[in-house]
Amino acid sequence: MKVIEIENLFVKYLDPPRLALKGISLSVEEGDFILLVGRTGSGKSTLINSINGVIPNVIKAEARGRISVFGKDPRESPVYKTALDVGTVYQVPESQIFALVVEDDVAFGLENRGMPPEEMRGRVREALELVGLWRKRDHPTFLLSGGEKQRLVIASILALKPKVLILDEPTSMLDAIGTEEVFQLLRKLNEEGMTIIVAEHKVEYLLPFVDRVVALENGVIALDEEPHRAVAKGLAKFGVEEPQVAALHRAAKPDDALCPITVEEFFEVDK
Ligand code: ADP
Repeated sequence: MKVIEIENLFVKYLDPPRLALKGISLSVEEGDFILLVGRTGSGKSTLINSINGVIPNVIKAEARGRISVFGKDPRESPVYKTALDVGTVYQVPESQIFALVVEDDVAFGLENRGMPPEEMRGRVREALELVGLWRKRDHPTFLLSGGEKQRLVIASILALKPKVLILDEPTSMLDAIGTEEVFQLLRKLNEEGMTIIVAEHKVEYLLPFVDRVVALENGVIALDEEPHRAVAKGLAKFGVEEPQVAALHRAAKPDDALCPITVEEFFEVDK
């Protein structure tokens, strides 16, 4: 089932005027795990904020073309408001943490919806267990590590039970340990069926697990491929550091006839 369909999307910021997306078409199936890459300024955040309706409802911009998220146009029914269809995690975890105590933060969004206390307690526990923070439920949020904070943000969004999770460079404020914690969680969530779109520069860990790599370049989709093909075509021009050989090995399917070149050939080609 298609959950997101975008056709020929153009987004123009008004102040200062800037055409940020220039005819994007993208379709996302239920259960897809998509890695979005591209240099700073290529349009990743603009695309994410168009899918969740932040553009044009919060960030003023002109968005033309078709956007359908579970059959609805997010420009008219902004999905960021309820997180029922799409939940978005941004770069700075602190900007999405509202309470002093871990479990209160997860309960916050549910309370706002007027959920009965019994159901709410169940949801809070389920979400905190999922992200591995249940034993820290009574800890102050400001004492969490960066990775824990980002996992808390993800828990608070998961408690609202969105169908799609979108993350805009969720690890840019995190150290290596926190980054791996978040990536492991994404992998687990996707294995359990969650549709995930993640914009990220650190691709080594994610490459082996995603279904597709979508690369933006100057407001257009320059590449939309399975990971082993994307790696073979080269990701360096999209601001991605040369992926580790180990990740390449895991991403490439050796018996897959579609894989055009071997890892060794890839490095030959790149010299
Ligand atoms: P990325 O997320 O890939 O770094 P963005 O979507 O943030 O890229 O930016 C795409 C282009 O739009 C860039 O040229 C950026 O400067 C411009 N841009 C982003 N936000 C705004 C805004 N609020 N107003 C005007 N221009 C913007």
